[in-house]
Amino acid sequence: MNAVWESTQSTLESLASFAQQNELLSRHTTMRVGGPAKFWAEPQSEAELEATLRAVKSAGAPLKVLGAGSNLVANDAGFEGVVLHLGNRFSWQRVHDNLLVCGGAALLPKLTHFALKNNLGNFEWACGIPGTVGGSLWGNAGARGFNGREWESRDAAADFHSLVAYDREGARHELQRGDVEFAYRRSSIGELIVTEATFALKPLSDEEAARHREAVKELLQKRRDSQPVSAASAGCIWKNPKAPDCRGAGELIERLGLKSRRVGGAQVSAVHGNFIVNDGSARANDILQLMSEIESEVLRQSGIQLEREVRFLD
Ligand SMILES: Cc1cc2nc3c(=O)[nH]c(=O)nc-3n(C[C@H](O)[C@H](O)[C@H](O)COP(=O)(O)OP(=O)(O)OC[C@H]3O[C@@H](n4cnc5c(N)ncnc54)[C@H](O)[C@@H]3O)c2cc1C
Repeated sequence: MNAVWESTQSTLESLASFAQQNELLSRHTTMRVGGPAKFWAEPQSEAELEATLRAVKSAGAPLKVLGAGSNLVANDAGFEGVVLHLGNRFSWQRVHDNLLVCGGAALLPKLTHFALKNNLGNFEWACGIPGTVGGSLWGNAGARGFNGREWESRDAAADFHSLVAYDREGARHELQRGDVEFAYRRSSIGELIVTEATFALKPLSDEEAARHREAVKELLQKRRDSQPVSAASAGCIWKNPKAPDCRGAGELIERLGLKSRRVGGAQVSAVHGNFIVNDGSARANDILQLMSEIESEVLRQSGIQLEREVRFLD
């Protein structure tokens, strides 16, 4: 064992209650692939997070952050470093006037329902996205939502108010709306680890909240009809290209006859061309190879270069 690992091991051993070794990443990603993380740290408080970050920094070990693992493909060989996952004590939520305040590990669907229970709307877009608040702000997740009158595209940036985050040295930062830049499926959060977020939502009457609840049911039904929601996947693999006559990456892949293409246990979903599903036997390498094949074929047939939305943990 080299000096970095010895030092990481001894520092993380002092955090024994929430750090362990050789945790399989396939257990923590919705795609269900990924070998072992050399160290897996699951702090349950800001103090434990700070201690972890300082320990990792002083050992000089590589560090990755994993939320719900719903937009990640983890390497078959695992990760030779520390994977940090905010523990379930970071999944709290509360409301204060029209503000929805939550921990970085809170799950989006739960937040949608919690907001509506408190007569707060505009978070409907998040009802079917199986990610955490931290991961969703990091990648500015978004989807079709409901504004009380009509369906509309909405994302994490839309009602974002402020956040609390830690840097890799273990220092705490409070950022306001104007401090964070967002674009389509991107943010400037970068290396920061989001531990808390606040969204300014729309107050609703009881009648309006009931209408928004109906909209959520419709949004979820639409997902069940158009996405492989019960299969192992990482959601949309590619961003929607901004090209004339292109209604989205999924539609493009289908139009080019690439739906259902397979490598090993990984297959382009027969339900939605922008999803790759794992039949239970896929390795990360199958997924990567399938992605490369689809990208080459789309480029060859249409001249469009697909850009990846899914992230790699390697
Ligand atoms: C069935 C299905 C449907 C989906 N539908 C949609 C959709 O409609 N729209 C959409 O945008 N996405 C969708 N996704 C993708 C995914 O759920 C979102 O991108 C989600 O926001 C990822 O959050 P996560 O917690 O799983 O992040 P992870 O996948 O764990 O991580 C993604 C990135 O965020 C970073 N990260 C995670 N937690 C934190 C944190 N606390 N602080 C800082 N950085 C962090 C990670 O380091 C990584 O770079 C779908 C996925 C599935 C499986």
